[in-house]
Amino acid sequence: MSLKVDSRDKAQEIIDKYDYFLFDCDGVIWRGDHILPKVAETLDLLKKNNKTVLFVTNNSTKSRDDYLGKFEKIGISGITKDEVFGSSYASAVYIEKILQLPKDKKVWVLGEAGIEKELQELGYTTIGGTDPRLTADGVTFDPDHELLNNLDKDVGAVIVGLTMNLNYLKLSITMQYLIKDNKSIPFIATNIDSTFPTKDKLLIGAGSIIESVSYASGRKPDAVCGKPNQSMLNAIKADNEGLKASPGKGLMVGDRLNTDMKFGRDGGLDTLLVLTGIETEDRVLAQEKSVAPTYYADKLGDLFEMTQ
Ligand code: PLP
Ligand code: CA
Repeated sequence: MSLKVDSRDKAQEIIDKYDYFLFDCDGVIWRGDHILPKVAETLDLLKKNNKTVLFVTNNSTKSRDDYLGKFEKIGISGITKDEVFGSSYASAVYIEKILQLPKDKKVWVLGEAGIEKELQELGYTTIGGTDPRLTADGVTFDPDHELLNNLDKDVGAVIVGLTMNLNYLKLSITMQYLIKDNKSIPFIATNIDSTFPTKDKLLIGAGSIIESVSYASGRKPDAVCGKPNQSMLNAIKADNEGLKASPGKGLMVGDRLNTDMKFGRDGGLDTLLVLTGIETEDRVLAQEKSVAPTYYADKLGDLFEMTQ
């Protein structure tokens, strides 16, 4: 059963016990565009105690550079690019390092600018994505649309993430690439979060868009790059020798059981679930022992507040 962080001793024990703190972002650090209570103070406290602090988000709509801007904007300063891992970056790295897609191949994107920017930074050409021919006001579906009739023969991978500019044309072109050439073009999903949390309600998440093109094409993604996939954690471990050698020195903090908590657990890290996002206390306490988070807390800021 998960231990509740509800006293000074327990909060202090967590600060003392771990050297690496991996934070999910939405629902832990911020909610939408608002920083959660005492988060900046908690991060300061951890850094003063020489802890390594890393941020791991499944939101593919932004690039790492975009995230640096967001941290500043909500009042968290001094974060560097190597401390931020997003599913857009993880997907781009997967395409380069695991698929080893040649740089003269193109990537079809069903998603937002974060994916395009990370791929372009690695030297790839993207198509689809934010192309105004697919998103401009007044685009209505045309079964003979130029992009539907002229599939690009150089597309060597398809990547699907969340887009709020979704339409039938984009879904249909994505499906065409997925069934093209005997379904041989690799199909990469940024993340499988079924829902997308906004300040007062849950909306459609990337996983639900992926399901749609998956069902239509009769294919499952060849890789899901965000949490809980371990390729992102392996990349983090590669940059942090101490965590690689002793995963038990790491604590994964998140708000979702099937992504964040599984991500930490599968990688040998202890886990802390905070109740400022997706899950409720009842859901946490109902988890079987083998998958229950190590700890849970009302909010991340309790680590600061309880130790003052
Ligand atoms: N995907 C999208 C598009 C989002 O906007 C969010 C949250 O804002 C997420 C995923 C979940 O992100 P995180 O892993 O930081 O909770
Ligand atoms: Ca989250």
